[in-house]
Amino acid sequence: MSHPYNHALSSVKKWGGSVEDYLPIHNWFDESKMMMADFRHRALRHHAEGIFMCERIFGITITLSNGNVLPTRYVAELHVKEDLGRIPSMQDWFSNIKPQPWMGRTEKIEKELGVQ
Ligand SMILES: [Zn+2]
Repeated sequence: MSHPYNHALSSVKKWGGSVEDYLPIHNWFDESKMMMADFRHRALRHHAEGIFMCERIFGITITLSNGNVLPTRYVAELHVKEDLGRIPSMQDWFSNIKPQPWMGRTEKIEKELGVQ
């Protein structure tokens, strides 16, 4: 399960409505593929904080074409579970980043500005 369309088909099977009801949410989760074409793109939104961000963007609920109202979070959680088998935290992703010297640049802007 990886293409947003397939996620949408799965959502229709679970809650009814149409593919178009769900595609904006599933596209939002996977549009980070524009930045990283392999599975690592998921680090950007496929976690608990991403699910809540999705809710802020799309609203607490979505109204399906069949008239049913569904919590947006349910759709978001299903997407992440279908891709990863569970809902990781952002810390789960970050703890797997291999630190590089440029990531911890310690020069202070105050030094560059000549102020204390
Ligand atoms: Zn995904």
